[in-house]
Amino acid sequence: MTQFCHDLRNLKEGLVIDNVKWNFQFYFSSDWKFLAICLGFNSAHSKNFCPWCTIDKSQQGDLSKEWKINKEIDKLVEQNNYYKGHIRKPLFDMIPLNHWVPDELHIMLRITDRLWSLVIAELTEYGLFNDTARKIIVEEMKRIKVKFQFWQIQESKTWSYTSLMGNDKIKVLQFFDLSKILSRQRANMIRNLWNKFYELYIKMKDQKTNAEEFQNDAKNWLTLFLTPSEGIPNTQGFKKGLYKPNDMTPYIHVLVHHVSEFMTIHQKWGLKSFSCSAVEKKNHQQVSYFFRKTMKDGGRKSKSSAIIEILEHENRSLFYNYHNVSLNSQKPHKIHIKAENN
Ligand SMILES: [Zn+2]
Ligand SMILES: [Zn+2]
Repeated sequence: MTQFCHDLRNLKEGLVIDNVKWNFQFYFSSDWKFLAICLGFNSAHSKNFCPWCTIDKSQQGDLSKEWKINKEIDKLVEQNNYYKGHIRKPLFDMIPLNHWVPDELHIMLRITDRLWSLVIAELTEYGLFNDTARKIIVEEMKRIKVKFQFWQIQESKTWSYTSLMGNDKIKVLQFFDLSKILSRQRANMIRNLWNKFYELYIKMKDQKTNAEEFQNDAKNWLTLFLTPSEGIPNTQGFKKGLYKPNDMTPYIHVLVHHVSEFMTIHQKWGLKSFSCSAVEKKNHQQVSYFFRKTMKDGGRKSKSSAIIEILEHENRSLFYNYHNVSLNSQKPHKIHIKAENN
């Protein structure tokens, strides 16, 4: 790792090839966990959660506040804990913080997860998360062509459910009919919030989106997300709102306060260029292969580690692909030949 960072630092000074000097710009994009590790930053659940600005959790719901990137990587190089929440020396100190780009895919995945779990929490709160509701949810998922199941964890008796892939999450976000499990009025309210988030997601990936407009739309969306209740519960005229600042995930803060800024800085490329979806897909393929084919490092006879098995498998596939070798070898057939007794 030290050597790698050393090489990166050298590369940043530029490279002369045939009397032409090449300059390099580095960018970093990953999911939250990996980004936090590489920055030497604490977890997303802590009070100081934002890698880019100095907000703390109690300020999340304050809609009047504007947050821009206000940390500098050089300050962290000088002093690893210069900002609250930073605990170790950043690994890639040659990359300025405005080149650590949040990933649009993970913004969509994690915020959709949150929106979904808030609906489940609401059903649970009203004692409606029962076998009937679970059956309806599974049927509705079937209708929108998403494979989905619930199962109960033995010890804790809590219910777990299928973790969906990105494209299935988008189907749920767009098409899941909430009125099947919630009152018509409640369903409409939450559906509207989901639709507007889907629109933001599409705009976020579109290079032509105007950053300022996006910032506005995102702020309006957060205002909607934080719709307060009106009146006194269980009395006439009570209007139940949506969610509380504590229900926000760090990705919502990033969506509302930093995405538009990154759009402006990196407009040349568009945020989609920094998307992790290709890496994520590869990870998914490797994980599936791990569970289907390898000995999961547990087989006594396998001599190599699962990672090496996966890499070797990929290497073979590339070789076959490159040399046009067909992989569908025919299964052996049994042929019965009747002896004719003439
Ligand atoms: Zn991920
Ligand atoms: Zn921030």
